[in-house]
Amino acid sequence: MLETAHSLIRDVGKKIGLTDWQIDRLIAINAEHQFEIKMDSGKSHKAYRVQHNNKLGLYKGGIRFHPDVDLEEVRALAMLMSFKAAAVGLPLGGGKGGVSVNPKMLTAEELEELSRKYVRHLQQHIGPDKDVPAPDVNTDPRIIDWMVHEYENLTGDTSRASFTGKSVEKGGSLGRDAATGRGGVIVLRELLDKLGKRGLITYGVQGFGNVGSFFGLVAEQEHQNWKMVAATDSSGGTYEPKGLSAQKLAAYKAGSGRLAEYPPDAKAISNEELISLEVDVLVLAALGGAVTAKNAKDVKAGIILELANGPVSEPAYKALNARGMLVVPDILANAGGVVVSHLEWLQNRASEQWSEARVNSQLEDYLVKATDEIYSRSTKAKMTLKEAAFAVAMDRLVKQ
Ligand code: GLU
Repeated sequence: MLETAHSLIRDVGKKIGLTDWQIDRLIAINAEHQFEIKMDSGKSHKAYRVQHNNKLGLYKGGIRFHPDVDLEEVRALAMLMSFKAAAVGLPLGGGKGGVSVNPKMLTAEELEELSRKYVRHLQQHIGPDKDVPAPDVNTDPRIIDWMVHEYENLTGDTSRASFTGKSVEKGGSLGRDAATGRGGVIVLRELLDKLGKRGLITYGVQGFGNVGSFFGLVAEQEHQNWKMVAATDSSGGTYEPKGLSAQKLAAYKAGSGRLAEYPPDAKAISNEELISLEVDVLVLAALGGAVTAKNAKDVKAGIILELANGPVSEPAYKALNARGMLVVPDILANAGGVVVSHLEWLQNRASEQWSEARVNSQLEDYLVKATDEIYSRSTKAKMTLKEAAFAVAMDRLVKQ
């Protein structure tokens, strides 16, 4: 993933006339924190926080708990955050954190211990005006609430602006839970409109979880002509050409159901099969590296929406482009989360709680503007949408 990010930044940097020195500066990482979290059980886990660039504002980006987390991945994700914030015009820099752990193997007490210890290690490097982490893969408001509480205990800061993605009761923003999925719907809607596609749109969701389920729910509410025909989670999933109800799927999942078994009479489908479905839009909301050089040839969708971070590898992205498919880049498609994180931070700073309608309308403004700017850049400069998103971000990061 790091190689993919570097080579994209180098290519686009050259295209827009940046010098090697300027490109090196864009790639350079400001600070890296690596440590071991020693658990009371005797186990220990490698943990990271990478602060890539804070030219445009404080470092911002999630913390993931996943066995595959390593320094290289966190570096790439931190870099993507700087470009994401810049691409959509947020006054924020980029950072990312992670712990190499399988949280499903931990008890609730151990998860709390891990979360609090993570903050204890990082305490002096983060804070409301320095670096504000948020949820990412396998982290949620419950975990963020523990982290904020730990940070408050350690520093006396009661602004709650030290983290975003908190529960609403603990200072989180209304609309933050749905923000990444909702943002994906806004970006896709805007692009379909620009492409003149107004009829029936079929789509499949890989990763019907925190992000993918909200994409489905918001799409179902707002776009009668969009039809979800397949959805998967890590267990596999379900395929129904007549259309699936996102609401029913989400309720089934909330009851701890496995999508591979939904509903008893549905056609079971694997994650690999979902990627090769004949749909208009393939929504990739699971993990990085879902489409690679190996399976890119199987993709049949005309539009691939990167709702996860880095779900399409560089060779796959090139192969899809060559076949005339449109890859909607992660730094635009999934920016809704960090946009509403910014709104949460603003609310905490002002001791305010905005209505969901106010939050959603600001999210809408950010993403409509960003999609428009990136799309026009791509047509004017004859770039792909991904290149254009990085070009827009680079302009802001270099000018500053
Ligand atoms: N983890 C999310 C992302 O990758 C959100 C980051 C944030 O809200 O700071 O964009």
